[in-house]
Amino acid sequence: MRRFDRLYVGGAWVAPAGEGRIEVVDSASEEGFASVPLGNGTDVARAVAAAKQAFESWSATSPSERADYLSRIASGLEERLSEIATTVAREVGMPLKMAFAIQAKLPAHVATLYAELAARYSFEETVGNSWIVKEPVGVVGCITPWNYPLHQIMLKVAAACAAGCPVVVKPSEIAPLTAFLLAEVVDEAELPPGVFNLVSGLGDVAGEALVVHDDVDKVSFTGSGRAGRRISELAAKTTKRLALELGGKSASVVLDDADLERAVTATVKNCCLNSGQTCSAWTRLLVPNALRRKAVELAKATAESFVLGPPLEEASRLGPLASAAGRDRVRSYIERGIAEGATLVAGGSAAPVGLDVGYYVMPTVFADVTPSMTIAQEEIFGPVLSILEYEGDEEAVQICNDSLYGLAGSVWSADIERAKGIARRMRTGQIDINGARFNPLAPFGGYKQSGHGREFGRYGLEEFLEIKSIQL
Ligand code: NAD
Repeated sequence: MRRFDRLYVGGAWVAPAGEGRIEVVDSASEEGFASVPLGNGTDVARAVAAAKQAFESWSATSPSERADYLSRIASGLEERLSEIATTVAREVGMPLKMAFAIQAKLPAHVATLYAELAARYSFEETVGNSWIVKEPVGVVGCITPWNYPLHQIMLKVAAACAAGCPVVVKPSEIAPLTAFLLAEVVDEAELPPGVFNLVSGLGDVAGEALVVHDDVDKVSFTGSGRAGRRISELAAKTTKRLALELGGKSASVVLDDADLERAVTATVKNCCLNSGQTCSAWTRLLVPNALRRKAVELAKATAESFVLGPPLEEASRLGPLASAAGRDRVRSYIERGIAEGATLVAGGSAAPVGLDVGYYVMPTVFADVTPSMTIAQEEIFGPVLSILEYEGDEEAVQICNDSLYGLAGSVWSADIERAKGIARRMRTGQIDINGARFNPLAPFGGYKQSGHGREFGRYGLEEFLEIKSIQL
């Protein structure tokens, strides 16, 4: 049982003011396997004070100095990849091999990319008689979710550090452990005191204390729409700068000239990545009427091919969900889909055979889903795919955009120009054509109720910069 007793504030491990503990539960065994302090508003205030004190000197460091620190953090993470992967696999339920690549290696890579970017980014430019300087925004509060716990933290911390901002991190109470591993790495990297601070705690206590604090200049939040709206209200009181990365209901649009097998297989796999606990998952598959039968067959076969099992077992391709609450929520959406008249093609709301312990949900596919159904509109956050049919490209675009969300999506076609034309009409922030690979330098973020602001690459860095004009 790993037990963290202290918070990381002002460059030191300090006793928390908050009493009580957060127990971290293994998603496969349903048993506690670690715990962290339950920080409170006093802890947040101490962390913000430490960050504020660090701001003047940290913001005055050269970009190349900050790049050196980030490189050291990247190396520190690289040394602990196995520990990070195992920890997230247990917290979140992602199979170990995949967790190694996505949950452990990607955050280390993001730190390296921001080290490189800090070193080459131009923090000033000339416009006519004006000297434009881009300056760090100030103290940043980072509030993060549990589904890609370290990755979500690193995207914010690395970009803020590169920009010259000190941070206070409030990780998810469901998966807080890698934030503590990161604090150990930061400590070993000898980042100046107060530049990185960590307070674990509950959202409505520690999270809100961070959002309302006068000395926090910007809050970068990733999580649910519910919390995002609450944070928006609270942040308005101090006119705080805010970036929100929220949920999604992304569409995979298969055009009539696409390689259907490739498109459907990739969509089901994308939808079920991390057991569907991915904000950008393609959870709506849009197929032409004429291809419905073949598409349903392919989706069913792919969903039924996954081997479910504990994340630390070699054979597992799909693990449990992160929590009992998440599992129950997903299963109730499946029941809702059936009740509203969609056709259940694969999976269902029952526990998978032989997996009574652990928060498992069977990969589930619905056909004959209409745009007004709940399972076509709401984010389920589980391995549940809704197949919708359309007649003609115009209707495909219309169904795709008939959503409160706009985070991601894909288009599949043999004609790249046609696919690009559809992509341009989709009101969403990230679109992959024919399964094109992920680019960690491209901006990621939402249209509509998927939030505002961008992460990754220079777009992510610029979220933490103020722009000043000096006329000469
Ligand atoms: P959540 O909103 O419950 O929690 C996220 C974080 O916010 C946690 O640290 C939590 O403690 C904190 N929080 C909760 N209420 C708060 C409040 N009132 N004030 C301040 N902080 C508060 O979300 P979750 O269940 O951890 O994550 C799942 C959601 O996150 C999904 O909707 C998913 O789509 C979204 N998500 C979005 C992205 C993205 O980049 N767009 C990435 C990952 C997850």
